[in-house]
Amino acid sequence: MKRIGVIGSGIAGVTTAYSLAKRGHKVTLIDARRYPAMATSYANGGQLSASNAETWNTTKNLFNGIKWMFQKDAPLLFNPTPNVNKYKWMLGFLAATFSGKHKSNTLKTIDMAKKAREHYFKIADDEKIEFNLLKKGLLHIYDNESELQAAREKKLSAVFIRNQMQAGIFINSV
Ligand SMILES: Cc1cc2nc3c(=O)[nH]c(=O)nc-3n(C[C@H](O)[C@H](O)[C@H](O)COP(=O)(O)OP(=O)(O)OC[C@H]3O[C@@H](n4cnc5c(N)ncnc54)[C@H](O)[C@@H]3O)c2cc1C
Repeated sequence: MKRIGVIGSGIAGVTTAYSLAKRGHKVTLIDARRYPAMATSYANGGQLSASNAETWNTTKNLFNGIKWMFQKDAPLLFNPTPNVNKYKWMLGFLAATFSGKHKSNTLKTIDMAKKAREHYFKIADDEKIEFNLLKKGLLHIYDNESELQAAREKKLSAVFIRNQMQAGIFINSV
């Protein structure tokens, strides 16, 4: 048995601490805030939609981010006030966007999200946690033809790349 400290009590920290404790370690969960899960894990959408795990690093999202800064009802707002950590994060985001790995990273993220979801279900089963879980899939609604078409093409290209990867002929440039 080891004594292990986990920093951050959002979903990542709590589930990590849980798994370590299950393995018999003595775990201390540390957070800067007064209560657990008071940051990003506090009020998210509650979706367990692993197949919706597309990475955000696209040029389209860069342009959307800039456009949304001037839109009152934007789905996502970026506060441009100076902050060293924020600018470091932005540089990382830009580097990832132009790394050419969006598709392969998305597929890896989906695989990881599917495995994580199985762990999540198992924890809920083992600990008998009731949380109105629905397994009915996710409905995407597009309000214009071009967005719908782009989504269809994205789905087709994801299936194509996955088939290539499974056949062992995956090309690194995607
Ligand atoms: C609006 C919104 C909607 C979302 N909807 C969904 C959804 O429907 N489905 C989904 O799967 N995901 C969703 N997400 C994403 C999801 O909420 C996050 O990916 C997830 O909560 C991140 O968890 P985390 O544990 O990594 O980080 P956090 O929950 O942010 O936890 C990090 C913790 O670390 C602590 N901390 C940070 N620095 C320190 C330090 N130096 N010392 C001590 N403690 C520290 C913080 O206080 C915090 O408690 C959504 C996110 C947002 C913003």
